[in-house]
Amino acid sequence: MKEKETIKCRRCGKCCLANLIAYVTAEDWERWKRQGREDIIHIIENQQAVWAGDHFVSAKDGKYLHGCPFLVREGNRYTCTIYETRPRVCRDYIPGSSELCPQYRNK
Ligand code: SF4
Ligand code: SF4
Repeated sequence: MKEKETIKCRRCGKCCLANLIAYVTAEDWERWKRQGREDIIHIIENQQAVWAGDHFVSAKDGKYLHGCPFLVREGNRYTCTIYETRPRVCRDYIPGSSELCPQYRNK
């Protein structure tokens, strides 16, 4: 049987423009507390996104959000600034597994 080809992430950042942070779990929260990551907790508490029809806004002040607050651009690629402790939903995301990803293949 032919093994399924592994698709390599191109770091285009598109999946991180979705509201993945909305899927933070109690496990993530506990880990960040254990790790003393008040920086992450503070950002999530203050920048939690809500869908405003065609874009995300901050639940706190209604400010326009362009995607995950932990996503930064480096040249023509994007990087997760909390990669080592990113939420479970992000760790479980398989490149190419959804239409969100430019490498999506419906097979
Ligand atoms: S936490 Fe990191 S991997 Fe997850 S959506 Fe944000 S930038 Fe992307
Ligand atoms: S959308 Fe696909 S290629 Fe782009 S960052 Fe996400 S997994 Fe990588």
